[in-house]
Amino acid sequence: METLTKGAFIAALNRMITTFDEQMEALSRMDAAIGDGDHGISMARGFHSVAERLRAVADRDIGTIVEMVGSSLTGVIGGATGPVFGALFTELASQAKGREALDVADLAEAFRRALDAIQAIGQAKVGDKTMVDALAPMVAALERAAGEGVGMDKALEMALRAAEEGRRSTAQMKATKGRARYLGEKSIGHEDPGAASFVLIVRALLEGFRAERNG
Ligand code: ADP
Ligand code: MG
Repeated sequence: METLTKGAFIAALNRMITTFDEQMEALSRMDAAIGDGDHGISMARGFHSVAERLRAVADRDIGTIVEMVGSSLTGVIGGATGPVFGALFTELASQAKGREALDVADLAEAFRRALDAIQAIGQAKVGDKTMVDALAPMVAALERAAGEGVGMDKALEMALRAAEEGRRSTAQMKATKGRARYLGEKSIGHEDPGAASFVLIVRALLEGFRAERNG
């Protein structure tokens, strides 16, 4: 069975570190349109901290590695993003504790838990124009993939497509959570930066999986 191995996770994290560095300005510009323009800087700062701490835990299990990512993001990023994206990885970590590989059903369960935790923290529902609009359909896609018994590559591709569609759907929404809510109607027409960041994370997972599989 195709699994997401520890090597794939580390490859994915390295991609996230590079991507959030490269996309820093683009993400901050998206945030400037509807928020305070710091989202790219916050994510880049968070993943710089991940980069600094990765080597120290690279020989541990997936749970320990992903737990470090969660605590780095929560610790370094303030505002709304720290607790939200921190919880994403902290919940994945609890599913991956002691594990060297995860299958599609594990991933579906882990991201479901992450969605529940993020909604408990921030009270955002689908339609509020946040990263939840990308995460919720991605979880549904993973659950569908697990139910259909498809392989990891297909499952992650379904997950990425659902997250991208969710990100695009935020353009039509009026923000009611986070700083963007102060703009009300004026937030319509712009995609949500947090949803865009979540898509980058899912894409990195797929790319990390493929890089590891292809050696
Ligand atoms: P801040 O709003 O503190 O400046 P960022 O700019 O880094 O933080 O992040 C903004 C992103 O955080 C938004 O684009 C949105 O996706 C996400 N966000 C804001 N509030 C919530 C919430 N309650 N639940 C989930 N995500 C949220
Ligand atoms: Mg901001």
